[in-house]
Amino acid sequence: MKVALVTGGSRGIGRACSVKLAEMGYYILINYQSNETEALNTLAMVREKGSDGEIIKFDVANSEEVEKNITAWQESHPDTYIEVLVNNAGIRKDNLLVWMTDEDWHKVLDISLNGFMYATRAVLNGMLKKKYGRIVNMVSLSGLKGLPGQTNYSAAKGAVIAATKALAQEIARKNVTVNAVAPGFIKTDMTQDLDEGELKKTIPMNRFGTPEEVANVVAFLASKEASYVTGQTISINGGLYT
Ligand code: NAP
Repeated sequence: MKVALVTGGSRGIGRACSVKLAEMGYYILINYQSNETEALNTLAMVREKGSDGEIIKFDVANSEEVEKNITAWQESHPDTYIEVLVNNAGIRKDNLLVWMTDEDWHKVLDISLNGFMYATRAVLNGMLKKKYGRIVNMVSLSGLKGLPGQTNYSAAKGAVIAATKALAQEIARKNVTVNAVAPGFIKTDMTQDLDEGELKKTIPMNRFGTPEEVANVVAFLASKEASYVTGQTISINGGLYT
């Protein structure tokens, strides 16, 4: 059994990644924070692809919860290990910095940045021992170029891009790769409140992307074929200049 863990796998891009990795034959651990119904819907889609998986509830921003859940899963499955990790869970709390609250600053960093660290640390030993692993971090256009109204989100994603480069060098010899993908505007619950009609005019492809278009790139980075790619950030943004 080959196992992949997708954080925030219940909806949007994380769901598309779960389904795509299932197509590649992975058993999927679908992490979610609160929306069990949607996590179960993702599981049903995974099964439709002829694979299997399970839902696993934890808040990626809570170090103890992450460690406890991942360790418990590993201990009850001693014959296998998590060989693919997609650090996808993330939220937006946009505001101009002058009006940004401590809470909205920390919440966004806690989930995207600390969540990356807690989940990665929890699975890394298994990958290093087996001398094979794939880590893919979901970052953003915002983390590459910075977007006004998103200093918290840009800081979180920019930090994960830097961490991707550092960790890639730490573990490259063990055949464990770490890469990031940076979507532009993708049609999910997260972008529902945006003015798509106006924003798409700024995108050379004149449309928002789909979660599946992001998942296709994640799938490549998670595959054996991506064996000599590490420390990279790949943009998926319809040609938006970064
Ligand atoms: P989404 O539709 O809002 O889904 C977010 C997912 O993250 C849900 O599965 C949610 O779980 C989970 N989640 C949120 N907080 C969590 C926590 N503390 N612990 C565990 N899971 C948590 O978002 P999306 O658009 O698919 O975004 C996915 C990733 O892509 C994020 O990192 C986002 O920053 C990044 N991204 C998105 C876009 C875009 O245009 N959509 C662009 C660039 C980057 P529940 O269902 O339980 O709430």
